[in-house]
Amino acid sequence: MANAKQVEELKLTLLERKELIIKNIQGSRDSIDSLKNSECKDEFDYAEISSDSFKEGIIANQQVKELGEIEDALKRVQDGSYGICDMCDESIAIGRLRAKPFAKFCTPCREIYEVEK
Ligand SMILES: [Zn+2]
Repeated sequence: MANAKQVEELKLTLLERKELIIKNIQGSRDSIDSLKNSECKDEFDYAEISSDSFKEGIIANQQVKELGEIEDALKRVQDGSYGICDMCDESIAIGRLRAKPFAKFCTPCREIYEVEK
């Protein structure tokens, strides 16, 4: 079980990660906007630009998803349920939380969850 000090450290990790993602999302939106504003000289250029925007869009979506998970974890820090598995109510190992601070499930439950999915 993560103690108060460890939770505090993990909370800082979450907050740093959150800031980074927000910056990244903002950055990729800016570059998509500048691509849209740039002139397309021929069809080949256009194809390149749209596939880049497409990739950026996917990356941005993943980051939005991660951002949601981080927000969720921060809420759990607030209400004291952070570090407790959502499925079995057992505490999540500190090593797992360090590797993935927004983990919702302990390792065994995560494995079950992934198999069932
Ligand atoms: Zn569990």
